[in-house]
Amino acid sequence: MVGALVCLLAAASPVETEAREILELLVAVDTSHGNETKALEPLLQRFRAAGVPAEIVESAPGRGNLIARVRGSGKKRPLLLLAHVDVVPVEGQPWTVPPFTPTEKDGFLYARGVSDDKAMAAAFVAIALEQARSQKPLSRDLIVALTAGEETGGAAGVRWLVQNRKDLLDAELALNEGGAVYTTPDSSRIESVSLGVAEKTFQSFRLVVRGKGGHSSVPPTEGDPVAILARALLRVAEHRFPVKVLPATREQLALLARTEKPPLSEALRRTAEKGTIAADDERVLSKDRIANALVRTTCVTTMLAGSPQDNVLPTTAEATVNCRILPDETREGTMSALKKAIGDGAVEIRVLEEVGVAPSSPIGGQVTEAVRGATRALWGDVPVVHSMGTGATDSRHLRAVGIASFGLGGAPGSLEDARQGRAAHGADERRPVRWLPDGVRFLREVVVRLAREDVQ
Ligand SMILES: [Zn+2]
Repeated sequence: MVGALVCLLAAASPVETEAREILELLVAVDTSHGNETKALEPLLQRFRAAGVPAEIVESAPGRGNLIARVRGSGKKRPLLLLAHVDVVPVEGQPWTVPPFTPTEKDGFLYARGVSDDKAMAAAFVAIALEQARSQKPLSRDLIVALTAGEETGGAAGVRWLVQNRKDLLDAELALNEGGAVYTTPDSSRIESVSLGVAEKTFQSFRLVVRGKGGHSSVPPTEGDPVAILARALLRVAEHRFPVKVLPATREQLALLARTEKPPLSEALRRTAEKGTIAADDERVLSKDRIANALVRTTCVTTMLAGSPQDNVLPTTAEATVNCRILPDETREGTMSALKKAIGDGAVEIRVLEEVGVAPSSPIGGQVTEAVRGATRALWGDVPVVHSMGTGATDSRHLRAVGIASFGLGGAPGSLEDARQGRAAHGADERRPVRWLPDGVRFLREVVVRLAREDVQ
């Protein structure tokens, strides 16, 4: 009897089993170069079989976005469950397992997308199906949106939907990637939960210096465009934007302090405690890539172009500078700081594609409460911290049109795996198998707390 009971408790629940099944279906379709529709078709069938209205909306042939809606009473405005089903390419990466075949090895599930972002997509589908089948009362509609093209800026997915079919996404709140459930490096327990409430703004600039061209045997004696550009790029590299602690980063810095070593850990702890950065601490924080990116806007040169041939003088020398702007700063401010740092009228600065500056989502509201409650229910006294992403997700497109978007984690994993490039975007992307069901249970707990009438 006791044995049977233990067995029963250890068995995965139907929602966890279904999420795992869907995850394996999703990662088996290579969506690294489009092809999202093919990955979404079996899920459309599942929704329809459960009586949930669902459709696949294509922004271009093969670039599908699946939208399904589980109806609630309408007392509250809808909750959007967003996950992208495209993935980054695997070409040139040293994978030790086939990237588009789910492979269990050494306690991990390996496959491209298992972390970014197909585990979340699978969990959201399973959770929505469970709610629809159980017919428990919902205070708001659950909209599931599984989208295309996040890794290439959202133009095939969320950005396109916001511009062309905003009615489909019209929600008060959205849950998306951009947060995390961290395990310890040995995967033995859950260490912390990070709730993403803000992201840095992605903005690239093109620097252009014009030259006269001609034969390289008679180079210019002054005004060499490449030399002028090189000097400008050095100044960009040496420029330090001002440091600050934002409400979205303060707890994140405190959490980072717990896993780093002195003197970085001490500088982080003091900074998080005071909410301001002392000059001595600034020097320490500025040497660490992650801490530096959390406390200031950064700009870095990523692309260079000159003449197309070695014996031809360039008529233009060009560089692309990619900036990641703190959410309370502007593109214009960043551009004029760059101009001032370069201090050379011969260098023209152009703004490349603008994706909009998105405000932060509220801290401490209903989503914070739901995430804290879910964390406590599952793992007890594990810290929950608000965080800012240094990278960009589709949340920016939602925040820009007034949908408060929050970053959660799909499948739990360690920060160490992320640092080693085994979480998002790297070779051998993987997640510990033993925590996959907990990842689903966590998201389910958050959704239930936000949307179920009998739980509120
Ligand atoms: Zn992603």
